[in-house]
Amino acid sequence: MVNNKEIQQIQHINFDICSYCNHKCNFCSNPDERTKKYMTKLVEFEKTMDNIGQYLNFKDLGEIGLSSRGEVFMNKDLSKMVKLTKEKYGFNYVYVSTNGVLFDKEKVFDVLESGLDSIKFSINAISRERYLTVHGKDDFDLVLANLRTVLLLKKNYFADLKVIISCVSDEEVDEYKSFFKKELNDLYEYLDDIWKYDLVFTPGRNKNSTLNIEAKNLPSCSFPFDRIFIDADCHLVLCCLDYFKEEDYGSLLEVDFFKLWNSDRFRQTRNMHKKHLLPKDHICYKCLNFDKNMKD
Ligand code: SF4
Ligand code: SF4
Repeated sequence: MVNNKEIQQIQHINFDICSYCNHKCNFCSNPDERTKKYMTKLVEFEKTMDNIGQYLNFKDLGEIGLSSRGEVFMNKDLSKMVKLTKEKYGFNYVYVSTNGVLFDKEKVFDVLESGLDSIKFSINAISRERYLTVHGKDDFDLVLANLRTVLLLKKNYFADLKVIISCVSDEEVDEYKSFFKKELNDLYEYLDDIWKYDLVFTPGRNKNSTLNIEAKNLPSCSFPFDRIFIDADCHLVLCCLDYFKEEDYGSLLEVDFFKLWNSDRFRQTRNMHKKHLLPKDHICYKCLNFDKNMKD
């Protein structure tokens, strides 16, 4: 392993194995035509992880996420990739986030049996009408049925599986809890948590989110230092919010991870963060200045 200060700070990997999505949520940049779409092939996944594995001990990192800006169950090799992360690369904890629409009992059983530790259902409304408005698809009943299927599998076969619901919603967590308690009955006890996220900056809908805050007052972000984000095309990118690939450091299929992580461009971005000096047209400046109360 390389004794490099920048690399030693890395704590987390997020490999987005599919940037296509079957939904069109009204707060998300995925439906924007400028979002680059790709599906990671199994052979590419392995080559990319082998590249990074030359420099990092995955057992020390502990966890990896396999989803980010798309719908992970669209990738037919999901269960094989989960298996690789557990058996070949030795990650302790592997998680995905899904809208919960594109699987049946057999398909999700296969993925859970491959070693998935956590599945997060992204459900951004608690009524069929509102769900259709937010997600752009009338899949509310199907998602609830699939959530029940996963909870039942947890009850019967996968006791250690974490099942979480996440939402970007105007409703409060308590409203979500009441709704799901009623909806899931005795399966509710197998649901681990409900997480509510604030609306964050997304490049598609918040093009003009600069608020002209003094650079020195910018909040800090640890992502360029401690997280590896890999896009579905196996490029090293800045973070999960960079839908339009404004900060793309190159292909991990072609270039050594160490070179890309320490490339002039990536180092320059990290230095800008260290000094709190980000140009106003930089995605991080727009993100750090994003006011969640500004609806567009
Ligand atoms: S929020 Fe998730 S489910 Fe909705 S469009 Fe974006 S990626 Fe798809
Ligand atoms: S866009 Fe920049 S500031 Fe925002 S989360 Fe990503 S790395 Fe951090």
